[in-house]
Amino acid sequence: MRLVLLGPPSAGKGTQASMLSTRFDLLHLATGDLLREAVANGSSLGKKAKKYMDTGALVPDAIVIGLLEGKMKSTQSQTGFVLDGFPRNLDQAKQLEEFTDIDLVLSIEVNPGLLLERATGRRVCRTCGAVYHLRFNPPKAPGVCDKDGGELYLRDDDNEEVVKKRLRTYEEQTKPIIQHYESTGKLKRIEGDGSIDEVQNRLLAAIVEQWPQLDGLAHGPIHKKAAAPASSRPAMQGPRPQAQAQGQRQQGGQQQGGGRRRKRHRGRHRGRYNGPGPRQQGNN
Ligand SMILES: [Zn+2]
Repeated sequence: MRLVLLGPPSAGKGTQASMLSTRFDLLHLATGDLLREAVANGSSLGKKAKKYMDTGALVPDAIVIGLLEGKMKSTQSQTGFVLDGFPRNLDQAKQLEEFTDIDLVLSIEVNPGLLLERATGRRVCRTCGAVYHLRFNPPKAPGVCDKDGGELYLRDDDNEEVVKKRLRTYEEQTKPIIQHYESTGKLKRIEGDGSIDEVQNRLLAAIVEQWPQLDGLAHGPIHKKAAAPASSRPAMQGPRPQAQAQGQRQQGGQQQGGGRRRKRHRGRHRGRYNGPGPRQQGNN
């Protein structure tokens, strides 16, 4: 299952992709996470990316593609992937097709006014990073984190002007991608208004329409496949609330098979990982 999830910023795309990846055991490829990871690492691609991200501008294709290709090559899922936040323009879509096929493109469509409200109402704790929303998920005391009393602030990239710019850019750049996938019969439009579960159910319905044999898997609680190799699901940064990612992290050291790829992931915590991983891979 090779999915692309399209949707404007703040449409809840990351959460939806994360839920799909858990349910169907897919590799969740979130370019936003890959970028933040690279920035946090201070890698050369990360440093370049930061300049753009700080102003709300789109990060150039070459940087995003470099990060994505690196991640795709270093991890292999048995069951497929869900791409979240990529491609963002027609050029990227075409470059993507050079290294992988895509089976289904799900475009989450939300009214722009609602998106603006979602983004500009968001507040983040300076201490623990907990996310609140002035209207949809307010803290108990204004401006203060429920968990640790930390100060809540508006992220630079949730500023109204930045969000508007991002939405405009999204629309301009995404229209041609949508047309492109529509012309190849791979696109399904998903109504994005509603709760997280409502939107997830619409996504699942679209997936079952494409793969009727997955009907059982698409309904009811998520069945965690005990046999799923840890390597098929590297714990990515970002919204991954499932205890599963945690569990895998703990057993990582025992999993010979997944060790190599897991080690790649550990690269983020350079210096902290000193497990008994298999031998180093060249520059990989
Ligand atoms: Zn906090």
